[in-house]
Amino acid sequence: MSKVLIVGAGGVGQVVAHKVSQAPEVFTSAVLASRTQSKCDAIAAQITKRRNFPLETAQVDADNPREMAELIRKVKPDLVMNIALPYQDLSIMDACLETGVDYLDTANYEPPDTAKFEYKWQWAYQERFHEKGLMALLGSGFDPGVTNVFCAHAQKHRFSEIHTVDIMDANAGDHGYHFATNFNPEINIREITAKGRFWEKGEWIETDALSVHKTWDFPEIGPKEMYLMYHEELESLAQNLNGLKTIRFWMTFSEKYLTHLRVLENVGMTGIKPILFEGREIIPLHFLKALLPDPASLGPRTKGKTNIGCLIEGLGKDGKPLKTYTYNVCDHEACYAEVESQAISYTTGVPAMIGGLLMVTGKWKKPGVWNMEQLDPDPFMEQLNLRGLPWTEEITQG
Ligand code: NDP
Repeated sequence: MSKVLIVGAGGVGQVVAHKVSQAPEVFTSAVLASRTQSKCDAIAAQITKRRNFPLETAQVDADNPREMAELIRKVKPDLVMNIALPYQDLSIMDACLETGVDYLDTANYEPPDTAKFEYKWQWAYQERFHEKGLMALLGSGFDPGVTNVFCAHAQKHRFSEIHTVDIMDANAGDHGYHFATNFNPEINIREITAKGRFWEKGEWIETDALSVHKTWDFPEIGPKEMYLMYHEELESLAQNLNGLKTIRFWMTFSEKYLTHLRVLENVGMTGIKPILFEGREIIPLHFLKALLPDPASLGPRTKGKTNIGCLIEGLGKDGKPLKTYTYNVCDHEACYAEVESQAISYTTGVPAMIGGLLMVTGKWKKPGVWNMEQLDPDPFMEQLNLRGLPWTEEITQG
């Protein structure tokens, strides 16, 4: 008997709500709460069309820990799933500590006025969660999330030493718009326009944004140009993998997408500092977000597949050179048929539900604040195959 409180009713929150309702043997009821309650109601209506599941909705401003704590006291959930934005991570963690409830999210905290994401703010909660016997699971999406679990699985079953990890994220989906982002435009553009960074021999090496790139032939998608970027899972994996020498993150972008992005950047539309416009302050990136298609609306238009995986090299358990490539391929149209969302929201929402499932069933229950690779990868890998994100592992010896 488990009740969850899902906070955030965007593209990813929608998938989480659908997937939770598909697992009534674990989740007996849920409350979906967000800043705009009508979005929660629309998702609840989609689910009611498909099956009977006790899903209630609520309104909350999760930036306000007191309001959040009040809602938690009213709902009495076993777990709070933070599927809102990275800006709300700390206020929701505070509310969980105050009310004594476990916490899960999909993206690490980012201060609204600086495009900089680091785990230090959330890792600082380790002792407080531990003392209260509560668990916080950080980054239970795909990347971060499944990519961390792929690395943990490789470390547990295949490698004695992992030397190199390349996380490669390809989206070959086509939504027919000139320019749109697949998840929250503000978070997405802040991430892409930031400097690139990778970890080598104990040091972070910085590169100009999107300046390092190469072609990779992705299974079921074909060759794509992928660009080196900084991504949050690099920070925790660099600490938690044995013998690691290099870890990098790559994401594919089309030439058309990059051209639009460059122009928007050049004219100042991606800025996050307020400017004065017709007598009032506006943040250019917020204005741009208002113009761009809502990621949740891309679902019915997107065709094609995603492929996200980890290419890992090192020494096998027998001490000989070993290479593994573990990935998932996800089809945008199949996702839409199942949960009325495109694959980017789907590949994030399914792992969030799996993380929650493992926590409420006690398979992943450990007081403290944890990144995904710090927990046993086996039950998570098993659930991926059962819940819509099957994986393939290619192994090359020598
Ligand atoms: P959306 O912008 O589509 O949705 C965000 C939701 O959060 C909206 O419903 C929004 O409400 C709500 N929200 C925002 N602020 C508050 C607040 N103060 N109080 C309550 N609710 C609030 O984003 P996505 O669904 O695309 O992304 C959700 C999260 O998933 C993000 O943190 C994103 O970074 C993360 N993500 C993680 C990935 C991974 O692989 N790990 C990949 C993709 C995304 P309103 O509608 O009123 O604005």
